[in-house]
Amino acid sequence: MTDSKDPREAKLPEKSNFSEWYHELLKSAEIIDVRYPVKGMCVWYPFGFALRRSVYNIIKELLDVDHYETQFPLLIPEQEFMKEAEHIKGFEDEVYWVTHGGTSPLDVKLALRPTSETAIYPMFKLWIRSHADLPLRVYQIINTFRYETKHTRPLIRLREITSFKEAHTAHATWDEAAAQVEVAVERYAEFYRRLAIPFLTCKRPSWDKFPGADYSIALDVIMPDGRTLQVGTAHLLGTNFAKTYGITYEDAEGEQRLVNQSCYGISERCIAALISVHGDDRGLILPWEVAPIQVVIVPIVFGDKAPIIEACRALERELSAAGIRVKVDEGDERPGAKFYRWEMRGVPIRLELGPRDMAKGQVVIVRRDGAKRAVPRDGIVEAVIEEGHALQEVLAKKARASMEEHIRLVQTVEEAIEQVKTGVARIRWCGSVDCGHQLEDLVGANMLGEPREEPLLPGPCPICNASTTGSTYMARQY
Ligand code: ZN
Repeated sequence: MTDSKDPREAKLPEKSNFSEWYHELLKSAEIIDVRYPVKGMCVWYPFGFALRRSVYNIIKELLDVDHYETQFPLLIPEQEFMKEAEHIKGFEDEVYWVTHGGTSPLDVKLALRPTSETAIYPMFKLWIRSHADLPLRVYQIINTFRYETKHTRPLIRLREITSFKEAHTAHATWDEAAAQVEVAVERYAEFYRRLAIPFLTCKRPSWDKFPGADYSIALDVIMPDGRTLQVGTAHLLGTNFAKTYGITYEDAEGEQRLVNQSCYGISERCIAALISVHGDDRGLILPWEVAPIQVVIVPIVFGDKAPIIEACRALERELSAAGIRVKVDEGDERPGAKFYRWEMRGVPIRLELGPRDMAKGQVVIVRRDGAKRAVPRDGIVEAVIEEGHALQEVLAKKARASMEEHIRLVQTVEEAIEQVKTGVARIRWCGSVDCGHQLEDLVGANMLGEPREEPLLPGPCPICNASTTGSTYMARQY
């Protein structure tokens, strides 16, 4: 698949033309194939799936410390699904139903999970008996289905979400469940730090919380076009679902009490953010830790090919023995075509080795951001690892600067209207639902919610004029 394709055929639009760049890059870098004949359902190319695997390994590593991984069925019986009134209201228009087994209508319709609360919580009722069973923390990485009526977009808005990591927890008290929400936000923050992706953390306004939650905290990434992408959420469910599903535990005094719950999720939108935040006009740029191929070695052949190839293979063996994911590109194309292909795929480091380098006992090391130097052949492993980590820092810094450029504190609705055309506005908000709805209508953008940073100095709410230190981010959202 990879080698039959002539890389010169791929024409990546400039990143400033973000939407076209994004779609073309998913294809050219072989992340996602959108040609599957069901709208909103896409196929991972093997290279894309390798990237997904290394990214999800980080989430697993962060959760496995104190969560159990598990797996629940895809199908949810109608009566369980319909139990929690608010939850249903939030999802009913998006549910796919299985109504037949073969040619016979089913007695009980089965929902394809749009999310798994209603699959997991009836089992929590059976699993949880006493305070000794708490806290209970499980997660699964599975696919979910939502009948999206909005415009679908690969990795961003899908009818099959292929890689939904959802965690569900149960605790003795509301405070413990609320503390778990903070733990979840911190783990997600660590996850995105390791991907060198900066993000905003906000408490969603009450009208935009998860259906059935007391409140929701969300992480948003600012995409290159200034719109935001919600890339993680954590919800405090309190006892809302426990009441519905009868999830109780016996406390130390022998009393039956309802559990308090939280749930939190991340989907393949994290890959969309990774691609969009770091990529450039030449393709992907992948952080060292998650790149499926970390180093590509390109032989620069003049005259006799054999000794160069042999030297490249020796280099590959040495790097591989050090635990680095490395590949020699031995194809017959010109080096330029090889550079192009591996740059498109975001390989963090390219090594070039030709007769002149061999004579000098050196290897040329080129980082994906363009930094280039010759290093002694002897110290190559250390140099490669050093440059890999340096690239991570460069990416994090650049991404942080870009995020900050996209946020502006504004005082008036007019300024907010202007700002959300290209980025995120922070604007005062007294916190009232009425003012919130009016702000959204007038600005023509969504409220992401109260930033978790320092409050502002007191000033007037732009709608009701009440003095407030409260504020909200506003943006056009994906
Ligand atoms: Zn107000």
